[in-house]
Amino acid sequence: MPQTLMADKAAFDVDKIREDFPILSQTVRGKPLVYLDNAATTQKPRRVIERVRRFDTEEYGTVRRGAYRLCEHATQLFEDSRQKVADFLGAGNKKEIVFTSGTTQAINLVAYSFGRRFVYAGDEIIISNIEHHANTVPWQVLCEERGARLKVIPVNDAGELILEEYEKLLSDRTRLVAVNHVSNALGTVNPVREITEKAHAAGARVLIDGAQSTPHMKVDVREIGCDFYTFSGHKMYAPSGVGGVFGKMELWQEMPPYVTGGDMIMKVTLEKTTYAPPPARFEAGTPAITQVIGLGEAIDYLNGIGMDRISQYEKSLLEYGSRVLGAIDGLRIIGTAHDKAALISFALDVAHPHDVVTLLDQDGIAVRGGHHCAQPTMVRFGVPATSRASMAFYNKPEELDALAESLQKVIKLFS
Ligand code: PLP
Repeated sequence: MPQTLMADKAAFDVDKIREDFPILSQTVRGKPLVYLDNAATTQKPRRVIERVRRFDTEEYGTVRRGAYRLCEHATQLFEDSRQKVADFLGAGNKKEIVFTSGTTQAINLVAYSFGRRFVYAGDEIIISNIEHHANTVPWQVLCEERGARLKVIPVNDAGELILEEYEKLLSDRTRLVAVNHVSNALGTVNPVREITEKAHAAGARVLIDGAQSTPHMKVDVREIGCDFYTFSGHKMYAPSGVGGVFGKMELWQEMPPYVTGGDMIMKVTLEKTTYAPPPARFEAGTPAITQVIGLGEAIDYLNGIGMDRISQYEKSLLEYGSRVLGAIDGLRIIGTAHDKAALISFALDVAHPHDVVTLLDQDGIAVRGGHHCAQPTMVRFGVPATSRASMAFYNKPEELDALAESLQKVIKLFS
């Protein structure tokens, strides 16, 4: 193990952290599980699993609707989670947090609702060339419906947004800029504060897709200055089926509902309905109650470790992994941005990513192979797909050694 990681070990006891995650101690095909698909979804600490179990066993009730004890208690826990999310993201007001099923639904909500209120024929939306489909397709649909135009920020060969080109795309027709904070396909960390400042100077609003940043770094939406910021619980060590979006209250107040029905109304008559104020206006129907409470617990867990410590440790893992994988003949790392999250996309000269990940699985190594829901990114880099090792703070350098060793076997087999 390299010196830096040995030094980090004193500050960050990864073996102890791993004890919090029961799933990590299992073997796969007789080999220790090496879980490196954290950009797809993260594993849950025992504390979250236990909190969810206890809530469902002893405390479960619906939220918002009843006056009895179980309901009042569940509503309190649910709203406590909203406060925890607001604090975690640096939002000033917990009512600026709307829960959804995850980032995909969050972006669809904003595209639909912001779009219907603020986007008209001839207007423009800007995304980048390295977006997840969840931050591409909703804008395409919106533009088609409203007669607006979608413009795309190009990236350089390292996978960094070309900011001079971005500036040229901005105009008084730009209504919204929607980019990710961290690219799930390349790991690029985008300069979201600068992007936001430039968009605001042009009079445009900004949505940041935070699906890949919230689990790995300290986020402060007020410092970034963005108008919307999305997240997914299942990528933040919380249950699946919950996520959400921060939005500035002045915007939420102006926006029409996306999904309609129960819980989002002020008054319904057969002739007319008036809507509840945000966030209820955007949370029709019974929410993912248990999952929201699990998310609150995951945030407590992350805060207990400290997001700055997490990102510092993951940075050292990235450096180590990039060195180890970069030393393999016939392996090309795709995405070499100066500012990068702990994620390594790569292509082997001799084997397709689908074959690579299937063979890695024989060694108990879980790595994703495919286009990562970012087909335009793959086209930009001239590959049909990549293999992607995405790390979390419970990963160890030894696991990256195991990955490198297994990749050498794949190369030998195909050569
Ligand atoms: N945006 C990015 C950058 C992602 O990585 C993902 C998921 O991989 C999404 C959006 C979609 O998130 P979800 O599937 O949780 O809705």
